[in-house]
Amino acid sequence: MAIIIKTPQQIEILREAGKIHAKILNQLEEYIRPGLSAMELNNKADELVRAAGAIPAFLNYQPDHTYPLYPASLCVSINDVIVHGIPTDEIIIQDRDLVSIDLGLKYKNMFTDSARTVIVGEVSDEKRQLVADAYKALEIGIAAAKPGNTVGDIGYAIESFNNKKYGNVRELSGHGVGVAIHEDPYVPNYGKPGRGAKLKPGMVIAIEPMFNLGTADVHFWDDGYTVTTADGKASAHVEHTVLITENGPEILTSL
Ligand code: MG
Ligand code: MG
Repeated sequence: MAIIIKTPQQIEILREAGKIHAKILNQLEEYIRPGLSAMELNNKADELVRAAGAIPAFLNYQPDHTYPLYPASLCVSINDVIVHGIPTDEIIIQDRDLVSIDLGLKYKNMFTDSARTVIVGEVSDEKRQLVADAYKALEIGIAAAKPGNTVGDIGYAIESFNNKKYGNVRELSGHGVGVAIHEDPYVPNYGKPGRGAKLKPGMVIAIEPMFNLGTADVHFWDDGYTVTTADGKASAHVEHTVLITENGPEILTSL
């Protein structure tokens, strides 16, 4: 699949969608508390998305025919779950959890993708730093998303910032987004400067570092979606949808 350069009209819709997206994630962050089930959080996300005139893009999503349909509107990935945690009534948020919420939004036929990791109550300094560093890595990756650079420059920036402090997940990556929820190119969180797809104005990509307190090795569950750390240690995952402009990166999924 070729990389899709978005039209000015599509970009205007994505800007609008990104603001809606950020507001919903703000509201979900406020809503997260100990005792809340992952399903209640999912239902809140679904309600907020629809109230905004949008559609939850992950619900019934299928990467390809070998996967089951994703059964929820939100991915809720707690502690050792890196990404794609399927919300259920049985998963209850606890004090000291790291809760990653990942939302895909479809608005006027365009897609945005953004995730945050929320700290619940008092966590260890180590976990607090992990989350802070994941956000910092996202910021550094975004700064590299300018015309003339490549996806390799983004990955290199994130990997260099990590500097082997954390397990840097390699099996999953960022991606093009906008006309579909997942488009070319892949945007890995590692790479070599100057390698890979060249970034051009009008490209829209999701950048999403995933850092683990322990090993970078992951375990894919047979539910087709859930990905956990191989050693059971905590992980943080944060993501923005970013437009490449002539003047540099523009974060779409922020206010
Ligand atoms: Mg996402
Ligand atoms: Mg994504």
